[in-house]
Amino acid sequence: MISFVSLPYSKYCFMSSTPALASSRAHALLRKEVLDLRAYHVPDSFGYIKLDAMENPYPLPPTLREEIAAIVASAAINRYPDPNPASLKEQICASQSIPTGIEVLLGNGSDELIQLLALSLNKTGATMLSVEPSFVMYRMIAIFTGMRYAGVPLTPDFSLDLAGTLSAIEREQPALVFLANPNNPTGNLFAKVDVKQIIEAAPGLVVMDEAYYAFAGESFMPHLASYPNLLVMRTFSKLGMAGLRLGFLAGSKTWLEQLDKLRLPYNVNVLTQLVAGKLLAHNDVLMQQAEQIRKDRAWLYQQLGEIPALQVFPSEANFLLFRMNDAHAVFNGLKLRGVLIKNLDGGHRMLKDCLRVTVGTQAENERFVKALIEIINDER
Ligand code: PMP
Repeated sequence: MISFVSLPYSKYCFMSSTPALASSRAHALLRKEVLDLRAYHVPDSFGYIKLDAMENPYPLPPTLREEIAAIVASAAINRYPDPNPASLKEQICASQSIPTGIEVLLGNGSDELIQLLALSLNKTGATMLSVEPSFVMYRMIAIFTGMRYAGVPLTPDFSLDLAGTLSAIEREQPALVFLANPNNPTGNLFAKVDVKQIIEAAPGLVVMDEAYYAFAGESFMPHLASYPNLLVMRTFSKLGMAGLRLGFLAGSKTWLEQLDKLRLPYNVNVLTQLVAGKLLAHNDVLMQQAEQIRKDRAWLYQQLGEIPALQVFPSEANFLLFRMNDAHAVFNGLKLRGVLIKNLDGGHRMLKDCLRVTVGTQAENERFVKALIEIINDER
């Protein structure tokens, strides 16, 4: 009786609150870490040439789209998805050259896996360590899962500061280390010998985040059996499936069966399972597109390298980082000309005047270079 009365009453009170009262209630109830966080900002990209989010710019061949339409039409969306899609996992293991004896755990994008790792290791006082600048979600997820976060600066050319990282590991004793390789937003691969020393020195788990593996070709996947504290994480987002949300962690059963306990049972939805399965059966199409992106990256790198006002950094990913005076004005100038890239200035002190452009189709890349040159000429 009491609960019957009290539920509608408390609802009524909340709904009738003035916005100020609702806001003070939210402030009183929410964790300070959440209140202090700045939300991950995704800009409105409608109508722009979208070169801001490292997506694959290519549509699928028409026949494959028709096949997908047919499987989606007959999908059992009234049913919950398979909580442990064995055949999709087998396809992933085969297409990603996962060594025998190594298992995979699927995530709703790799963002979810970063969160799952943090949630499983966030004992009181536990630390997550990464390098900086790197993927911003490591720090954000550490904060909102209640982990301490330690960021070790990269060197000015964005390679690993091995001595600095090893002493931070010694000092911080991190439960979890993330290394994005190639790194986002810098695009470079870290020296393998340095990474190996970090894995050996780390007292906890080291996760190699290989989101951009398809554009680099170098991987720690073959080393999984040598390091019991190593996991490799990848995503299909950069390979043409960003809208499907599918990522995976590869590693030993010892780790994955524990992490799996925290995974929400139906985290990979019915349509993602079906469409990703179909696309992985046509892995050659995805690989051809990745190969084209690598070629176009070389073209774009050369074009940017010829602009004297600009410094472009070498990249093994599907984007390029570049620095030029007054990055904000350049970013806005590009937007005015219909091209959306990512302005990194202000995100980290080492990214002063830095911008990041995703490799698009040939036509998109040409439009971007043309717009950039126009902006530079207008300023003269
Ligand atoms: N890791 C890195 C290094 C990334 O750059 C990204 C996305 N930009 C992710 C993980 C997350 O990818 P997703 O959640 O789309 O799988």
